Amino acid sequence: MTLTVVGSIAFDAVRTPFGERERMLGGSAVHFSLAASFFCDVRIVGPVGEDFGEEEYAVLHARAINTDDIERVLGGRTFFWRGHYDYDLNTAHTEATELNVFASFEPKLSPASREAEFLFLANIQPDLQRQVREQCTGARFSAMDSMNLWIDTARDSLVRTIGAVNAVLLNDAELRVLTGEPNLLRAARAVLAMGPSAVVAKRGEYGAMLFTADHVFSLPAYPLETVLDPTGAGDSFAGAFLGYLGGHAGGVDDVEALKRAVAYGTAMASFNVEEFGTERVRRLSGEEIAARVAELERMTRFSDLPAALRG
Ligand code: AMP
Repeated sequence: MTLTVVGSIAFDAVRTPFGERERMLGGSAVHFSLAASFFCDVRIVGPVGEDFGEEEYAVLHARAINTDDIERVLGGRTFFWRGHYDYDLNTAHTEATELNVFASFEPKLSPASREAEFLFLANIQPDLQRQVREQCTGARFSAMDSMNLWIDTARDSLVRTIGAVNAVLLNDAELRVLTGEPNLLRAARAVLAMGPSAVVAKRGEYGAMLFTADHVFSLPAYPLETVLDPTGAGDSFAGAFLGYLGGHAGGVDDVEALKRAVAYGTAMASFNVEEFGTERVRRLSGEEIAARVAELERMTRFSDLPAALRG
């Protein structure tokens, strides 16, 4: 099974209370691809500049990610994001966003990327997301992410893109702002009404919730004593979520598969935040992922109600 992802490919400058990096490989599509690569074949789509070199390609190739549709713009500079986190690691404070090569990006996907059965529209301008959605005629399951910037500046376009995908993954705060509904359950219902059949609310250290027309599922975050940098946690979650669904034979209408996908997303995001940027996920193993999912299951399973309460 093949999964195509379009999104930002970036250099990030990040400061947290626990350290900083002045220039590290990042971007929504990069974090997503690395996470998804543990489950299925991944093709990454997006532009980079001349400053994106062998070292950066090597990180992707080490996980067998197909980079044929990375467009290297001669004379251009790669997307750059600078941000910081205070002790509330759930909130990223953007200091600078330089679109650079993204300012003139017109996605042109190769036939192989268009034919992929799974598609993820990682966080970029929603018009671009839709252009890619329209090109990917082979996709039988598509999902997307977004952010406050686009909710504030391109809401109508974003709502149209939401109407064209099967699943939406957003932070709880983004869901509330998008829908004007302070209650998360109502906010998720409002997004389901826009077209998708599943909504995932990412809640940072509080975990994630899955909403479909008939089901609500909630999983806490994997408890960690050391969190260094949350950058990319949402994309890592999405990468494992979609990757798991893509690698799973059961089909995406299976709500039990969606729940397990939430567990894989949760485990992957927990690895991502243990170190800066892509540092931890780069040297992760499938065994470590499986062990953490099993531990999550043990932590969240509990026994049946006592007979007296069963009514
Ligand atoms: P998250 O998973 O939400 O922590 O996403 C982190 C990634 O989003 C970083 O690696 C940034 O490069 C990327 N990013 C930040 N701002 C934007 C933006 N406006 N458009 C696309 N990607 C962005």
